[in-house]
Amino acid sequence: MIVVMKEGATVEEVQGVVELLESKGLSAHVSEGAEKTIVGVIGPKDRVRELPLEALAGVEKVVVVSNPFKLASRAFHPQDTLVQVGNSIIGGGAPVVIAGPCSVESREQIIEAAHMVKRAGGQLLRGGAFKPRTSPYSFQGLGEEGLKYLAMAREETGLPVVTEIMDAELLPMMESYVDVLQIGARNMQNYTLLKAVGRSTKPVLLKRGLSATIEEWLMAAEYVLAGGNPNVILCERGIRTFETYTRNTLDLNAVPVVQYLSHLPVLVDPSHGVGNWRYVTAMARAGIAAGANGLIVEVHQNPKEALSDGDQSLTMENFEQLMSEIRRISAAMEPETAGALSRHS
Ligand code: PEP
Ligand code: MN
Repeated sequence: MIVVMKEGATVEEVQGVVELLESKGLSAHVSEGAEKTIVGVIGPKDRVRELPLEALAGVEKVVVVSNPFKLASRAFHPQDTLVQVGNSIIGGGAPVVIAGPCSVESREQIIEAAHMVKRAGGQLLRGGAFKPRTSPYSFQGLGEEGLKYLAMAREETGLPVVTEIMDAELLPMMESYVDVLQIGARNMQNYTLLKAVGRSTKPVLLKRGLSATIEEWLMAAEYVLAGGNPNVILCERGIRTFETYTRNTLDLNAVPVVQYLSHLPVLVDPSHGVGNWRYVTAMARAGIAAGANGLIVEVHQNPKEALSDGDQSLTMENFEQLMSEIRRISAAMEPETAGALSRHS
């Protein structure tokens, strides 16, 4: 349920709605738009229905949100959410590119990669320090040491860093090193972890689960938003299908669908989406053309020697080529094109 306030409703009128809801044990989330303020109501439907909300001063109407996700829905927050990380804004305007190796392997490797990503025009650096590997015998990441190297790479280049968090208990330690907390596909429904990052002040990059529907993915985002963290960036990274020539099937349908249903920015990860470097650039182009708010791409100085995901990592030369193609596609698109579908209804 959402309460749409009249244009020009006063702060006291909004407060009146919030107080009534809270006095009945319901939770109220205020979203201030350019023209109207909206109060999202979370709690049992029948209890909300009994309240005389439409009779309160400043209330225009009460709307039932049929989707199970509320705070993540466009109805609650009609304008696009913009997530600021360093000097980059994810969600509006030009697409933002996050790039770097799958794993942080050494200080020299990540610092050199950061310089190359920056030179090619990438805005954020990625690199895993805690790796969710299918086999317990595969490289598990450098742990906190890897986070220290990421922080050094940020120091040297100014690029904010994105890395995966796998354990809620490590949150305070990780927050001291990183700029964006990534929730990996395998943890998309780890509700303890989602609640933990919901309490964080750091933006969250929420990857779609391997077999998650769009609704399940948006419900995962809802956990983070309901915890009080408004800075959620969605990431389509491919889903499991019957196809075996690619690691996953990059579901680009999800880009406009999510932009219609939700106000949250959505990125595309063509690297995990296809799993083979040969196809990464084509699908990165397609992601941008579909209106994604940016990309997250795996790159490596020497993919053959990479400790994880070498097969899908671009060489720095190929990444530079990808960046130049992306720039041309973005320039060819109307500035309003990204996310425009969501504004038609
Ligand atoms: C990664 O980004 O390296 C990763 C493990 O991604 P995903 O969770 O999408 O598989
Ligand atoms: Mn990877």
